[in-house]
Amino acid sequence: MTRHVIIGTGIAGYTAAETLRTMDPSVEIVLVSDDPYGFYSRPGLAYYLTGEIPEKQLFLFSKKGKLNLDVNHIKGQVTQIDPTSHTININTSGKVTYDRLLLATGASGVPLDVPGANLQGLVKLDDLQDTRKILSMIRNTKTAVVVGGGVVGIELVEGLVARGVKVHYLLRGDWFWSNVLGEIESGMVERPLAHNEVTLHHHEEIAEILGKRGKVTGVRTSTGKILQCEMVAVGIGVKARVDLAQGAGLKTERGIMVNEYLQTSASDVFAAGDAAQILDPFSGHSSIDNLWYPGRKQGRIAAFNMAGQKEMYKRTVATNVLLLAGVMTTIIGAIGSGRDEGQVSTMRGSSETWQQLPNTIASESGTDVSHLRLVVGEQKLLGALVMGDQKISRPLRDLINAQVDISPIRNQLLQPNEQFGQSVMDYWLKTKSGGQAR
Ligand SMILES: Cc1cc2nc3c(=O)[nH]c(=O)nc-3n(C[C@H](O)[C@H](O)[C@H](O)COP(=O)(O)OP(=O)(O)OC[C@H]3O[C@@H](n4cnc5c(N)ncnc54)[C@H](O)[C@@H]3O)c2cc1C
Repeated sequence: MTRHVIIGTGIAGYTAAETLRTMDPSVEIVLVSDDPYGFYSRPGLAYYLTGEIPEKQLFLFSKKGKLNLDVNHIKGQVTQIDPTSHTININTSGKVTYDRLLLATGASGVPLDVPGANLQGLVKLDDLQDTRKILSMIRNTKTAVVVGGGVVGIELVEGLVARGVKVHYLLRGDWFWSNVLGEIESGMVERPLAHNEVTLHHHEEIAEILGKRGKVTGVRTSTGKILQCEMVAVGIGVKARVDLAQGAGLKTERGIMVNEYLQTSASDVFAAGDAAQILDPFSGHSSIDNLWYPGRKQGRIAAFNMAGQKEMYKRTVATNVLLLAGVMTTIIGAIGSGRDEGQVSTMRGSSETWQQLPNTIASESGTDVSHLRLVVGEQKLLGALVMGDQKISRPLRDLINAQVDISPIRNQLLQPNEQFGQSVMDYWLKTKSGGQAR
């Protein structure tokens, strides 16, 4: 009987197990994970932190659902892979052999490398254990310093504010998430924060964490400000967990390198999710998505290939729908500013493809509470960012994903005015009803 071993019980690993089981009720599946809580919603951690959902809602499947999967779930850390002997080594249970192996090892938070980083009171928001730790400390926290300008950074800010903590938010750039958002867009996020017990500090980083008797008492910033606090929360990015792959001699760069079949440089070893750096055979580029839905799709495609069905992973346009300081925001495709802010890691809830500055024209329109930005190529829309009113999001997603020829309305889209959202909507309705060729 074929034995499939999957390292990681995140969305990529879990979906792979589910897909393998659906394809073949008799196949042997071993799931190994060093997360004691198994499979749960990582994006949901932010809502658990604010108190909007209880912890049990993070667990997407009932116990019954899990049992139906009929896998051998081993809790422990894989310390070594040997592709030659098709063996992995687990710290809790020793050697396990595999016929096919999936590395769905995810990514882990980049640690803050400053003096004082060992003090009690330094927290992150990577997994359930981290979230529980923050919640256990919150009663004794009046003020926190948060650092990190992406999705996790702002989720830390909002979670702490919701729990009654006063926050100093340090941003390295000119404005919040400046390699993805424009200044106006960022303003829509920063304004409500500033009304909410959050003090924003632009062009500031933490130079040192200050402490007394082993506990955080404050920070000294890069410009010399001293901010008193009991907690320092860090969301400065993540790095793919590539150590196992590296140790096994597999090809890695920022992630574990895989081809369009999600196959690594070793036969019978596959990778998916935040850990995988996937080659796009059409552009020749490879990139990492730190996003839930691509992770799910990759888990499914990896399983097909592990089972011997040749199935190519077709990257869909990276999309995220999220609340940023209460502003509903949809990000689709290449909408970045091209700024790199010296960033060496990727951000959770984001895609490397967003940060690329396409060689095209951006067009925007908006009011104080709603904003729309389009990245317009020669014949196609390449990206869009919609903040506030979301009725245009679905049409944009469809037009961008299906690479619809927008030549007939291109000129209208390049004249920013209140109406260009309506032009998109009308055109989408027309293409849907077959009125325009795709
Ligand atoms: C706070 C937060 C907010 C987010 N918000 C969004 C959002 O708005 N939208 C969005 O699309 N995405 C968001 N994400 C990102 C999304 O959750 C991830 O992209 C996705 O969960 C990645 O899944 P994965 O299966 O690749 O990895 P993970 O979920 O990280 O799972 C990795 C697994 O590998 C295991 N593992 C790793 N190494 C070993 C080893 N050596 N031995 C044993 N086990 C090992 C770990 O225990 C874990 O089970 C967010 C994430 C966080 C944390």
